[in-house]
Amino acid sequence: MSERIISPGPAIEDPEEVTLRPATLDAFVGQAPAKDALRIAIAAAQQRGEPVDHILFAGPPGLGKTTLAHIIAREMGAAIRTTSGPVLEKPGDAAALLTALQKGDVLFIDEIHRMNPVVEEILYPAMEDYCIDVMIGEGPSARSIRLTLEHFTLIGATTRQGLLGSPFRDRFGIVVRLNLYAAEDLEEIVKRSAAILKIPITPGGAGAIAARSRGTPRIANRLLRRVRDYATVKGNGEITKEIAEDGLALLRIDELGLDEIDRRILTVIADDFSGGPVGAKTIAISVGEEVRTIEEVYEPYLIQIGFVKRTPQGRETTPAALAHLRLETRQKTLF
Ligand code: ADP
Repeated sequence: MSERIISPGPAIEDPEEVTLRPATLDAFVGQAPAKDALRIAIAAAQQRGEPVDHILFAGPPGLGKTTLAHIIAREMGAAIRTTSGPVLEKPGDAAALLTALQKGDVLFIDEIHRMNPVVEEILYPAMEDYCIDVMIGEGPSARSIRLTLEHFTLIGATTRQGLLGSPFRDRFGIVVRLNLYAAEDLEEIVKRSAAILKIPITPGGAGAIAARSRGTPRIANRLLRRVRDYATVKGNGEITKEIAEDGLALLRIDELGLDEIDRRILTVIADDFSGGPVGAKTIAISVGEEVRTIEEVYEPYLIQIGFVKRTPQGRETTPAALAHLRLETRQKTLF
């Protein structure tokens, strides 16, 4: 696979994250239903000798959407071009990208829900009929010409499927939802990453990191690197259960993977608003984060572990959240 990144904006990627990215579907841990659906789509496309259908990946950040887009391109023997929704501001930006695509190329658009609606409209005929209409000239002499595109595959990634209008969503032949990972999958990911980075780790160490990774591979990899530093300074370099637990406690990450901001979110709802319901905007202002970050990064995990309930009136804390907060406060006063 040759990778041509022609994103108009800076494509800043953590080099270690790229190293840890699985290159094949077989190496991609977990998400069995998603992998099964993709295997079939790839095999069918190969048999027909056509590009794969357009695919939409939805799910919280760090679950593997970008990774899967690269894997699909690789398995199809295609080139991938990557960009993101907010970067494509004008129809011309999209037209330039689309007309440069070669047959079979994958166009990956991250954060596709944040794309300008006028750009979205350019994509409709591009996805359906492989053509776009572009305006040439200005004023009375302006005219529209139709350009034919090569058959390509659009892969979109979104953290907010609900923000994508249904006319757009319906143009994706395959919609794959990625869910937060189970602890055993994360443990496997931690072991795999440790092996690649040549970090000695015990099963207990991998388990301790996995349990605090909030169902998210990107966080698992990040915690692994932080604990590696701790193991080097405080131990002999090997990550044991004890080293992992001590290292993460130092980072103020508790045994459920909650950090300072999670705890502030819970405290705001529980104490300042008597358990809720309270709107996401108010929570965001109280903790000093963007609403989008609260909704896309923090909330999915707090809901998944049953600490926060989303109601039409707003967010509420649950008895389990209160018990956890109380336990933490008790532990703090004890030590
Ligand atoms: P997203 O695009 O959903 O934000 P990425 O595809 O960038 O997430 O994944 C973040 C990191 O997590 C990648 O570097 C990759 O190493 C790791 N990762 C994600 N999913 C998996 C998986 N299923 N198995 C192994 N590693 C994974």
